[in-house]
Amino acid sequence: MVDGVHFSVFGLGLFVLFPMAIWVVGLIHWMIMGEIDSVLGLIGIGVGVAVGLLAIFNPDPRLTPFLVLVMFATILSAPIYLKVRNDRELVRIDVETMEDCVDSLRQKPENLGARWRLAKTLYSRGFRGQALAIGEESIGQIQGGAFEEERALLKQWRRVVHPSEIQPLACLECGHANRPGAVLCERCGASHLVHHVQGRWIGPDLAKRLVAVWAALSAALVGIPALTMFAPVPLAAAGVLLLLGGSFWLVWSTFRGGGARGAPA
Ligand SMILES: [Zn+2]
Repeated sequence: MVDGVHFSVFGLGLFVLFPMAIWVVGLIHWMIMGEIDSVLGLIGIGVGVAVGLLAIFNPDPRLTPFLVLVMFATILSAPIYLKVRNDRELVRIDVETMEDCVDSLRQKPENLGARWRLAKTLYSRGFRGQALAIGEESIGQIQGGAFEEERALLKQWRRVVHPSEIQPLACLECGHANRPGAVLCERCGASHLVHHVQGRWIGPDLAKRLVAVWAALSAALVGIPALTMFAPVPLAAAGVLLLLGGSFWLVWSTFRGGGARGAPA
């Protein structure tokens, strides 16, 4: 029987350790990329290491279901992790495309190919009013039957873009309200469209929230039963209160601080 228990404990240790190891490596990566700050990263890593150690040296089988729950929470967070990484990459590519277009247009404002590439990128990033306005201004310059595909696209945009979306867009550098079709800020010449596309990215908030919720949930799920099992009553009570308070603070401060990144000051 003793052998059986040891085997199952060993098996659990591996099962929990594997997602924890991936989680910790992922957090280190996010800290290097600046996705999460180092305090949040270290909290997440600390919880991950503690859960992993408890899984290996599981002192009490009653703790097993809680460790398994944390393991599932970690595995379930993988799609969010991958989404953040994927979104970041897509935004990076779009921002590079837009910077190329804007550079070309600075040198040669009548470059229609660059205008259209810019408009299409803006449209895919949700700046549909700006995309439509830039498209309209470009098509006005075309003579004859060229740009068939762009004409069809413009027709489609006219149908779906609501007039309320065709609004002036404030420059994040100088605050000037630019007409929707402006490629550069009409006052200071900044790439205001690129700045807006960069600023709308919600990845960092999503990453921070994921780490905060995961760390709070895991610490509470494993820490509270562990404290009540192994610590003397007064210590356990204080520990549980501290753990609950800390978890609540972590989630609250992360969610309260989110959402404003990249907005004009
Ligand atoms: Zn400006």
